[in-house]
Amino acid sequence: MLVESLASKAGACSGRYVDGTPFKHAGKPEGAADEFGHELVKAGYNYHGSEVMVNGMLGTEMPAEIFIGSVYYQRLRHMVSDKFQVRSCGPVNKMTHQPIKGRKLGGGIRFGEMERDSLLAHGAAYLLHDRLHSCSDRHIANVCSTCGSLLAPTVVGTGISLSNLAAADGSRGTAIVCRLCDSPKGVEKVALPYVFKYLASELAAMNIRISLTLKK
Ligand SMILES: [Zn+2]
Repeated sequence: MLVESLASKAGACSGRYVDGTPFKHAGKPEGAADEFGHELVKAGYNYHGSEVMVNGMLGTEMPAEIFIGSVYYQRLRHMVSDKFQVRSCGPVNKMTHQPIKGRKLGGGIRFGEMERDSLLAHGAAYLLHDRLHSCSDRHIANVCSTCGSLLAPTVVGTGISLSNLAAADGSRGTAIVCRLCDSPKGVEKVALPYVFKYLASELAAMNIRISLTLKK
């Protein structure tokens, strides 16, 4: 590309086609710069193809000379208007409660493992919590502190006869009762990613039980 830049610059000055094949000058005492340098000087350019540039904001001359020439390239059809992506609120996946993907669907850009590692390396714990929890699939789950179950606590109407329901908070006519302990006692609200609950359900389907130990 460097040889092509020099060759095309010299060619443009004299109005002719120039061979800019790489390695053509290898092994010869005169390099590519020497072949095109004389022509460039004749046309009023720098021998090595560099040019003086001026700062567009300050109008001052840049201290470094910058190598400039033309090269052949093909323009690619990548437009910002086709690629920009933005999301604040939007649709979520029914299964995981996490934001969906896809620009057209108003989805988010995945904050993956590598991005997570980056925030961990920076010690940005609050930002990590914000991205992966608060802005993702934050869920207030009912966990039974007695048996540790994430799936057993169930919202029931107070009309249903359960032995210990008298102790339930029936202010709205419903109570959250642990189906395993048959009691509303010890059911606590815990903020966790919804996919964790989904994982617990998938494991339960395979006969594997997750038990949580709650601490104040
Ligand atoms: Zn329980």
